[in-house]
Amino acid sequence: MTLNRRIFMIQSLLGTVSLTVGDQAHTEIPVLFEDDSQARNLGYKEDSRKVDTAKFPKYSAGQKCAECQWFKALPEGSTGTCGVFSGKRVNRNGWCKSFVHKE
Ligand code: SF4
Repeated sequence: MTLNRRIFMIQSLLGTVSLTVGDQAHTEIPVLFEDDSQARNLGYKEDSRKVDTAKFPKYSAGQKCAECQWFKALPEGSTGTCGVFSGKRVNRNGWCKSFVHKE
């Protein structure tokens, strides 16, 4: 085996390990479910189109977590962390009454 081939194999292995560790880090953050007590108090919905507009008149069509200042996207794309629901992942298409549009 040539030296270049050995270096390539070691770099490939390290890259795989690094990707695995990175994926594990964000998937270990638990997902926020709608039946969580804090989620119910703030009217969180995983799909913002299902917000009860009679109960939450502040909601307007198009608002979603991905547009909220409390949201930070995670690498896998469909979820992110939320400054209001600390330690949980919320759906990027979700919504709760703490929504504040990003400036
Ligand atoms: S505070 Fe913002 S990011 Fe967090 S759940 Fe509510 S709308 Fe989504």
